[in-house]
Amino acid sequence: MHNPSDYMPAELIAMFKRQQYKLFGHSAVKLCHWTKSAIYRNKPCYKQLFYGIESHRCLQLSPGVAWCDQNCSFCWRPLTKYAQFPKQFDEPAEIIDEAIKQQRILLSGYGEFREKIGEKKLLEANNPSQAAISLAGEPTLYPKIGELVEEFEKRKFTTFLVSNGLHPDVLEKMLLPTQLYLSLEAANPRMHKEINHPLVKDSWELLNESLVLLPSLKTRKAIRITAIKGLNMSNEEEFAALIQKASPDFCEIKAYMFVGYSRKRLEMHNMPLHSEVKQFAERINKHLGYHFSGESRPSRVVLLSKKKNNLKIKSN
Ligand code: SF4
Repeated sequence: MHNPSDYMPAELIAMFKRQQYKLFGHSAVKLCHWTKSAIYRNKPCYKQLFYGIESHRCLQLSPGVAWCDQNCSFCWRPLTKYAQFPKQFDEPAEIIDEAIKQQRILLSGYGEFREKIGEKKLLEANNPSQAAISLAGEPTLYPKIGELVEEFEKRKFTTFLVSNGLHPDVLEKMLLPTQLYLSLEAANPRMHKEINHPLVKDSWELLNESLVLLPSLKTRKAIRITAIKGLNMSNEEEFAALIQKASPDFCEIKAYMFVGYSRKRLEMHNMPLHSEVKQFAERINKHLGYHFSGESRPSRVVLLSKKKNNLKIKSN
């Protein structure tokens, strides 16, 4: 296992540590707010409601914590300008072993609440079963992302992977996760430049290549639109046309949240209310024709699905 200082300057490592990231090599884990909430208050994340994953057993990680080829204005992570992934990198099994070890260290403080939490839940939390490969950075930049998903599958994990869609060549070849997310914040090239601030050439064309590729990929697929008031809650017909290209099983329309480092780039008023997100989703759906399948007010997210309720989707 490499050392984070092999890849990142001290000030960047310090910044991640201040944000409670556990760094190892070029990877990291961080205890998700909703994992803590599920353990301590029995309030899971909307993905447990919609897709049945177990939030208290979720491992939120990244195999490339500081590497992304976009600089999205709404991103809550401390962005960097690293688009090239390092040549020397860690193996999938090493990354997963270390991620679980670090997760257990992050959970160690919960031991004193075992009576409230219960032995069974605490034991389960220390034996994660869901991997959210979406902590920070662009996971498809990690050259062994397919093998990482494969290794998780061998260990009976479900895997959710969120990609910015700029690497259709990787998506086409890799072993696919249980659920593949493509992030879509722009309805056209102008919005893409303004919101995603891509660091690579032809990014809009690459994103569209991934959208066109999605119907052929044999796994569950979701498009997630982060709705930013005053920036992209418009052009609904264009959004619907892009979503139709990809024909995903699900489309999540989720409010931008004024949190983390995004507060340096956006304002509180860019964060829409749940009712505004719902109206935006309805306007898109007029052109898309999907089913309204669920919503989560605490997460300000609405779920549209291609088929009527094919999962026991709950709302809150
Ligand atoms: S699926 Fe995402 S939101 Fe839910 S617990 Fe895991 S990291 Fe958190």
